[in-house]
Amino acid sequence: MISSIYQARSQENRYNPVALRARPVVYPGHFDNLYVDTGRLRVYVSRCSRADGACCEAHVTVEALARGGCWVTVREEHNG
Ligand SMILES: [Zn+2]
Repeated sequence: MISSIYQARSQENRYNPVALRARPVVYPGHFDNLYVDTGRLRVYVSRCSRADGACCEAHVTVEALARGGCWVTVREEHNG
């Protein structure tokens, strides 16, 4: 369960997992769901919580398309 304190704090954040999870899933993964795919940027939210052994309640990973066509992690946010 994500605390309301955390929700308020993350509302200024474009990678707010609450807002991301309100969107349709672009591609469901085993550990992460893909919520945004612009072709150059992908945003995932973890499906796992602390109870599952994850680092936080709603881990957000942002990947960018690099030269050579591989995706690299450019940002990670721990939430809750
Ligand atoms: Zn985390």
